[in-house]
Amino acid sequence: MSGPLVVAGAGIVGASVAYHAARAGADVTLVDAGRPGAGVTANSFAWIGLGPSAVRTGPAAALRATATQEYHRLEAELPGLPVTWSGSLSWGAADGVPEAGPGREIVDAAAVAALEPALRQPPEWAVWAPGDGAVDPVGVTERLVEGARAHGARVLTDTPVTALRRDATGRVAGVDTAAGPLSGATVVLAAGVATAALGAQLGVRVPVGPSPATLFQFRAPDGLVRTVVNNRDFDLRQSATDRLLAAADSPEPTLAAVRSAFRGAADVELLGTRLGLRPVPADGEPIVGPVAAVPGLYVAVLHSAVTLAPAVGRLVARELVDGAVEPSLAGCRLDRF
Ligand SMILES: Cc1cc2nc3c(=O)[nH]c(=O)nc-3n(C[C@H](O)[C@H](O)[C@H](O)COP(=O)(O)OP(=O)(O)OC[C@H]3O[C@@H](n4cnc5c(N)ncnc54)[C@H](O)[C@@H]3O)c2cc1C
Repeated sequence: MSGPLVVAGAGIVGASVAYHAARAGADVTLVDAGRPGAGVTANSFAWIGLGPSAVRTGPAAALRATATQEYHRLEAELPGLPVTWSGSLSWGAADGVPEAGPGREIVDAAAVAALEPALRQPPEWAVWAPGDGAVDPVGVTERLVEGARAHGARVLTDTPVTALRRDATGRVAGVDTAAGPLSGATVVLAAGVATAALGAQLGVRVPVGPSPATLFQFRAPDGLVRTVVNNRDFDLRQSATDRLLAAADSPEPTLAAVRSAFRGAADVELLGTRLGLRPVPADGEPIVGPVAAVPGLYVAVLHSAVTLAPAVGRLVARELVDGAVEPSLAGCRLDRF
């Protein structure tokens, strides 16, 4: 890549792109309208893994397959990354007995009881994914930003990008911000749900919409839940010594379901509810790649981005800094729409 790179958006995706590009030697400026990780990343359940119905096909299958490996790599590069490798247990969220697969095995009630001893009624079977984990998503984002800085990146917070700039040939020339212009030979749009509006300024349609999802925080006894638990009622995990996080639809039924599912949960109480707007592309698959109509413009917007950010950041840096064309991003390009 010749010339400076501007990354618009310091959620987990933009922070990962900035870190990997700076580490690969690029001249990087990361700019965010607020604080790093304060967008939807802050409201994420932040389970890293394939989820209950592992998607082994489709455009992002290759990305998903390497997601946890990429976290292990990042942990080695950035010591202290806040990741917990607890494994995940899923049952009852889909009809029928699910399939085992790479990294996933079907376990019986006795095995479930050993993994989650406080469960009152372990299911007859569950999917156990021992390699899954969860992260503190803001902590990971901050660590990526710190890593980007350590490799020379400039980081501007509380600085909204107000416009994209083009030169006389139509190539991207940088961005305008509330604090003045920033030059860039390449601009990466990693602004989550705001990516569509930024692209539209140059007549580029990025079909990504806001998909609301709620996160609940509970006070709960330490050790009540040991893995990431996924069933019809909730996604549930321990996030701190006396805290549980649940991704679910509404607070009261979720609280009731937690109390009845686990022994010793009678005093679990709801501490707060947060709503996040997930950036979900029109076909659900990531949009990652250059924008053919506007040379120098690149888009990185996707769902399940906490899981996929380390992989996506590394691959985007390979494309932008090393000039590679990454086969595992081939199905993720904007021009499929
Ligand atoms: C309840 C819930 C549960 C979830 N569970 C999981 C899960 O278990 N696993 C998983 O992988 N994913 C999960 N997700 C999804 C995940 O949180 C998102 O995919 C991810 O956080 C998206 O990151 P992002 O960096 O694209 O977006 P964001 O975090 O929103 O970052 C975009 C950034 O762009 C900035 N920005 C916007 N406009 C501008 C502008 N004009 N100028 C400068 N900066 C701008 C914003 O300030 C923001 O910081 C969940 C989401 C929710 C809400």
